[in-house]
Amino acid sequence: MGLDERAQAQFEIFNAMYFGGAMPDVDIRLVKDLRSDGGKRCRLYGATSKVGDQFFIELDSNMPDSQHKLTLMHEMVHVKLWPKSHRSREWKREVQRLAEAGFLLEVF
Ligand SMILES: [Zn+2]
Repeated sequence: MGLDERAQAQFEIFNAMYFGGAMPDVDIRLVKDLRSDGGKRCRLYGATSKVGDQFFIELDSNMPDSQHKLTLMHEMVHVKLWPKSHRSREWKREVQRLAEAGFLLEVF
């Protein structure tokens, strides 16, 4: 399985496990250079953007394996809360919800 297929499969798993299957369709791409305009460029290895009704998650194709799940989940939170920022009350609440749902066990 390629990295992009793996990311898409992981997206579906996280969607079912942590978002009740309510995520919109997201076009997930592995890229060498993350988009830096018109979206959220994160401290991790990903970026989320929206064009019309379509969401895009870009993942750095060079990121270490250990960061895949964490980065993908981070970008999924951007999709859910779009266009709220990392510093919003909603973001903090969502991170807390994911922690309580056991997400940290995925990455620790
Ligand atoms: Zn971010």
